[in-house]
Parts: sequence; structure tokens; C-alpha cells
Amino acid sequence: SYRKGGYHAVRIGDQFAGGRYIAQRKLGWGQFSTVWLAYDTRTSTYVALKIQKSALQFAQAAIHEIELLQAAADGDPENTKCVVRLIDDFKHAGPNGQHLCMVLEFLGDSLLRLIKYNRYKGMELGKVREICQCILTGLDYMHRELGMIHSDLKPENILLCSTIDLAKDPIRSGLTPILEKPEVNQNGTATMNLIEKKLKRRAKRAAAKISGRRVSIVGLSETPTKTKRNLDGIDMRCKVVDFGNACWADNKFAEEIQTRQYRAPEVILQSGYSFSVDMWSFACTAFELATGDMLFAPKDGNGYGEDEDHLALMMELLGKMPRKIAIGGARSKDYFDRHGDLKRIRRLKYWPLDRLLIDKYKLPEAEAREFADFLCPIMDFSPEKRPTAQQCLQHPWLNLTTQNNENDIEGQMSNLQVEG
Ligand code: ATP
Ligand code: MG
Ligand code: MG
Repeated sequence: SYRKGGYHAVRIGDQFAGGRYIAQRKLGWGQFSTVWLAYDTRTSTYVALKIQKSALQFAQAAIHEIELLQAAADGDPENTKCVVRLIDDFKHAGPNGQHLCMVLEFLGDSLLRLIKYNRYKGMELGKVREICQCILTGLDYMHRELGMIHSDLKPENILLCSTIDLAKDPIRSGLTPILEKPEVNQNGTATMNLIEKKLKRRAKRAAAKISGRRVSIVGLSETPTKTKRNLDGIDMRCKVVDFGNACWADNKFAEEIQTRQYRAPEVILQSGYSFSVDMWSFACTAFELATGDMLFAPKDGNGYGEDEDHLALMMELLGKMPRKIAIGGARSKDYFDRHGDLKRIRRLKYWPLDRLLIDKYKLPEAEAREFADFLCPIMDFSPEKRPTAQQCLQHPWLNLTTQNNENDIEGQMSNLQVEG
């Protein structure tokens, strides 16, 4: 992908926008871009620099993404609405072409990384609640105030405002930014704290070559324990990112939207969609945070495809789809017969959400019921019946705080004991 029309290769210390931004380390990448931690010499802060691939279709996608991000920034001068902030944008010419670049506020790890960090064990509901509050604030803003559908909500596209590994957070760890291209120096340590794990070995070798001696690197070691990690002290505020697939509700351009596991039934059936597709993805995300498992992970099988399996999984959890809805989409005939039964998957094993949370995930009954009462209406097969983000924000489940405090404290104590 590092060829004409593709990614722009970046070295630590590279300058952008006439020297204003200096690349520090890679933060991530996607199908469209690489994202770098950069130091903004004008404001003396760290920012995330998203450098788009250069080919025409990527440039057009970036123009669209910038338009939506700009509208989101304009409508939220106080930056309190839980969507990532666009700071600047510019073009950068490189050997692979001209790349549109977005400068975004620097955020922390994605919720996907948080789920992995927690070893797919699921998080305390108190933490899930805090995260849900932020996501819903972001969605309410996008839907009601901006008229935008995100179309790709999932754990990967929600970033914490803080980082899990504090040592990797340049702001909190107080590391000095790299202001020029680093020559690996004699002691070889100054810039190494900023280098990603993968690059460490290479950097170490280079440093040893120059200095003629072995170089030690201060790194974080992962504790090999099977218990849940202690997430105390991690602020669960987060923001919605990646507006690359977002659209104006009155100017939709794609039929097939959303990442498979978070895709709403009306998208599969092609019966038209609106804001409530994001609500469906939100419910899938909330479940995943609480349990560590994806809510729906469809697979193709003997004589049926992924779509049909997906519809079957939905009905096993939520009950039979009303016939009118089942047969109402442009693609309904591919999956349903005229009675509204699946064509190839005939026997469904019903396992409602509250029972699933109790039986499989061992949640206490009361907690499971409350959580299921919050989530189930959001997964109504009828898109118009789903509560809006604004309505969800009023739900009692989100406002249950004091009652669970004592449980939380007990949870923390047992964590401390297990981890020694
Ligand atoms: P996709 O294929 O998902 O559309 P993309 O090329 O549009 O990818 P993003 O999803 O915007 O790129 O970003 C890729 C990754 O970069 C993210 O998953 C995240 O790890 C990191 N990242 C993006 N924005 C930020 C930010 N503001 N702060 C910190 N890290 C970020
Ligand atoms: Mg993404
Ligand atoms: Mg994208």
C-alpha cells in the first residue's frame, strides 16, 4: 500500500504543514489512512495526524469526512459533545502523490483495545454505564443537532479520552516531544520511550551498533494473570471517531453500511434506514463492553449465507421478526418465505437477552434484567420504534449510580486481593 495512490510513508521527526506538525509515533491505521501522534509546535500540544492515501477516491472520501467533522466542530464550540474535534486540515505532497491530512485532537485507546486489555472478560456495569453515557451524548448530538448518521459505530471507532498505558501517554508521562529527526544517540534512550513496541528491537539494534554496546530499554511488561484487570482510575470518558462513513440523513449515498456484526436488520433487508441504525450498533457495542463477546457474530454454513445466519441470531435473541418487517425489504425474498419464516434456517433456539446475561455471563438477576430492559427496546425490529439517543439518555439504567457504589467498592477490593 506504500505506492502511488497509497499511504504516505512517515519517519519520526518528519515535518508537516510548513513545519507546524512534527511526527512522533504511529497511533494506528485503517483502510484509508495512517494516523500519527504529532507535536503541534504552534500550540505546544500533541495532536493526531490522519494522513489519507492519495488516490482520487481516497481524497474524495477525505473531503467528505472533513466536511462532516467541520460541521461537528462548528456546532460544538465548547467541545463537550463527545465527538472527535477537527483542528486543522491541509494537503501534503509526497512521493506517492498528494495526501489530504486531518489534524484531530489526540485521544487514547479504542474501546476495542480496552476490551482486549480486559481479556475479553467484560467490564463492570458501572464502567459500561459511563461509556454508554458518552456514546449517547455523541449520537444525540450527531442525530438531533447535526442531522448526521455515523453508519459505522463499533468499539474500534470509539476512543477513550485517556490512555490505558499511562507510560505511552506523552501528556501524562511528561515526555519531551521529538522536535527534530532523531539520530539515535550514544545512550540510546531519549527517544525510545516514544517508540512502539514493534519498533523497539530494531531501534535497539541500531542504537547498539552506533554506541558499540548493549542498550537497555525501559518498557512495560504485561502481567500474565487470568483475572480481570483493574480499571480503577481510568476515566471512562470517550468520543466517537472515524466520520469516514458518516452521512447526512437527507443525503445518503450507500445501501450497504456498517460493519457486519453491528449491522441493523433493515440494512441487511434493504428496507431503508435512518438514525436508528446507529442505535442498533450502540446496543451491540454496549453488550460487548459488558460481556467481552460480540452480540452477533454470524457465519455462513451449510446451505445458508452470513446474512441469513445473522437474521437467525437476531431472532433467537429478540424473538420472531414481525412478518410485515421480514417481507418488507428489497432483499427480503432472498431470506424469508411469504409467511415470514427464514428459508434455510428452520429451527431457532430462542435465548432472550436477560437469560443470556444470567445463564452464560453470570450476571446477578436484577442487574441482568435492568441491563436487558435498557438494551432490548433499542433492538426493536421496527426502526421507528427504537428509542432515540436523547430518549436513551433519560433511561433509568443510565442514572443508576449511587445504588451500585457499594458493589463497586467490593469489586475493587477483591481485584486487589487477586492481583496481590
Ligand atoms: P477505517 O478503515 O476504520 O475507516 P481510517 O483509515 O478511516 O480507518 P481511523 O479509523 O480514523 O482511520 O483511524 C485509524 C486508527 O487510528 C484508529 O483506529 C485509532 O487507533 C487511531 N486514531 C484515529 N484517530 C485518533 C485520534 N484522534 N487520537 C488517537 N488515535 C487515533
Ligand atoms: Mg476506523
Ligand atoms: Mg474511516
